[in-house]
Amino acid sequence: MGETFQYWRREIETMPRAELLALQLEKLKMAVGWALRTPFYAERLPRAGINSADDIKTLADLRRIPFTTKQDLRGAFPYGFLGVPREDVVRLHASSGTTGTPTTIYFNRADLSRWSGYVARSIYGTGCTKNDVFQNMITYGLFTGGLGFHAGGEEVGMLVIPSGAGNTARQFRFMQDFGTTVVHATPSFLLHVESIMRAEGVSRESLRLRKAFAGAEPYSEDTRRRIEKLLNIDVYNSYGLSEMNGPGVAFECQAKDGLHLWEDGYIGEIINPDTLDPLDGGESGELVLTCLCREATPILRYRTRDLSGFYTEPCSCGRTHRRLRRITARTDDMLIINGVNLFPSQIEEVIMSMREAGNNYLIVVEKEGMLDRLTVKTEIQAEFFTDDTRPLNALKEKIRKTLQASITINPRVELHESGSLPVSEGKARRVQDLRPKDV
Ligand code: AMP
Ligand code: ZN
Repeated sequence: MGETFQYWRREIETMPRAELLALQLEKLKMAVGWALRTPFYAERLPRAGINSADDIKTLADLRRIPFTTKQDLRGAFPYGFLGVPREDVVRLHASSGTTGTPTTIYFNRADLSRWSGYVARSIYGTGCTKNDVFQNMITYGLFTGGLGFHAGGEEVGMLVIPSGAGNTARQFRFMQDFGTTVVHATPSFLLHVESIMRAEGVSRESLRLRKAFAGAEPYSEDTRRRIEKLLNIDVYNSYGLSEMNGPGVAFECQAKDGLHLWEDGYIGEIINPDTLDPLDGGESGELVLTCLCREATPILRYRTRDLSGFYTEPCSCGRTHRRLRRITARTDDMLIINGVNLFPSQIEEVIMSMREAGNNYLIVVEKEGMLDRLTVKTEIQAEFFTDDTRPLNALKEKIRKTLQASITINPRVELHESGSLPVSEGKARRVQDLRPKDV
């Protein structure tokens, strides 16, 4: 690495914890005040004995606020969470519908400016400056990753190319013509960039690429390393969700060891998703977030369904904002296969750690008689793909055994040629659960 750490807002990013918590309390009161102006919280908070911002006296009072869920947001669609006059709203975004129907979030001008500040802080913290050329290779539109990173990149002063997702031939033209140094994309897409480059005849030397921001979906440390090696770049994990504005909620710094949650903008808690009890000792559980920086759609104690936990030791970069562990799964993407719990990320970890395995895979679950049947379809690196069935069968068996040892389920394994499994432009869809719904 060898780079020195740089801070966008040093006094806030390295603020002593006690001061940071005092700032959080002040902002929490403000957020509760904003929330009480929305139809939803105007009803919900008084039932919990919170009638005004002054009822929040310490940060511990946060726990008196009931959780807000995705169902609450859906149930209050379209304006139940709106806390400002409609004519003061200047933008709306929607969740990309990782699961179920989308929910909408509204911003006033001040909200947009606060949000881009957190994204700028995140981008700058990875070592980018105004000298960088940033190609935002992610979907623009209702999804927050496009406009969110766009505004943050401009605030840093980078040259921002709003290339959007797709049209890979044109993406490489842009990279060559404008000397792109940084890109933002999903990790599943970045895994494909090198093979697309080869197919398009683009040499790595013709590009000035040095960094990528990868997020919007879970990926493992091995996947990060794979992308870094394939493209010879630095990859930074970017976490966000539309309910908390979008990108810029938590981001890796140059130490690349956990994602700093910007605690002057968001309060993070970890809970046991079954009992809803707080987990305060650094354990893993469901991440609950309170947004302190959006007036038009205040959201308090939102159950993200993302599984993570806080590191307890301080980061070598000097920032005092706590770091979240890489988010590997959501409570709602767990599969139950013949009674055994399985997160898709467990399969990814095995696939990405095997050098023979390619950069794409698919998980299929079917019903066979009374039993569930798990099939893992994985691409194979070109050098291992032959017409000779013997080595292929041996490799298949090796992958099957490695998977079984790790997930305790015996999967069927199918090998596929590199580049043959479907690639999505947005978030990867890697699980096909074909079991009848009500069985
Ligand atoms: P959306 O609101 O449509 O942007 O989706 C947000 C969801 O995407 C989060 O709640 C996470 O489940 C997932 N997500 C976003 N960034 C990451 C990341 N860096 N790692 C893992 N999951 C992520
Ligand atoms: Zn750090």
